[in-house]
Amino acid sequence: MELRQIGVVRSAIKTRKEMPTLGAPAAIELLPGFEAGLLRFEKHSHIWVLAWLDQAERDILQVTPRGVSDQGPEGLHGVFAVRSPARPNPIGLTACRVRNVEGRLIQVERLDFIDGTPVLDLKPYFVTRDAIFSAGNSRIGLPATREALQESLWIQACNFHGEQCADLALGVRIVEDYRVRFHDMGEPERWRIAAPASRLCMVDALMGMTRTSLGRGTLKLHDTDSVKFFLEDGLAEYTISLEAPGDPQLVLRAPEKVLWEFWTSSTTS
Ligand SMILES: [Zn+2]
Repeated sequence: MELRQIGVVRSAIKTRKEMPTLGAPAAIELLPGFEAGLLRFEKHSHIWVLAWLDQAERDILQVTPRGVSDQGPEGLHGVFAVRSPARPNPIGLTACRVRNVEGRLIQVERLDFIDGTPVLDLKPYFVTRDAIFSAGNSRIGLPATREALQESLWIQACNFHGEQCADLALGVRIVEDYRVRFHDMGEPERWRIAAPASRLCMVDALMGMTRTSLGRGTLKLHDTDSVKFFLEDGLAEYTISLEAPGDPQLVLRAPEKVLWEFWTSSTTS
């Protein structure tokens, strides 16, 4: 077996330690002689990038991934069950959005490979085959910080909705708050949500972040202007008080008291 490097990552991030979990803006510079492979590349908004993680360990089969607080045997995962760079063949695989292509330089929105990483291949991301909406994962680790949680939720919501708007951001804030209050920033085993029928952008946000669906009944629409989360033994409700929709970036940073009133009730008492 023989691999040929086709390009190299250009990024402001020079070490793995500095790399944000969700990557950073970057470019892929194709090596001279590979440009012809970009013919009709512009047909695709997103691509898979395969890279050779040359600094990774190659002789271990179990690791404790980033974000896992249990450093004992419970935190150990087989390398084929995680995306850790450490593996027999340290191939990195990341889907990313293409921003611009100029000559041999492909700018992408965010990539989690450090500067200088050899690139092995680029493939189109096929939404018809690669997006499996109903796929699920059991929790591996928790977000490192609340900011990391919000960023991850925002990306999931934007990926689903395809544009940014105030109600999308409000949905992100609500799910973020709910996960912090009730699940130590993680996810419940099963989501059950009711959302306002009058805020369809927020419904998209909730679907994108929780993979709930109207068809399966894990998401329902109601006529009140609130989001309800059904707990094992009660209810958590966010009654929306945000009056005018505005800049989504402002909603992401607004104080909670201008966004909602929070209620919780127990069904066992
Ligand atoms: Zn919208």
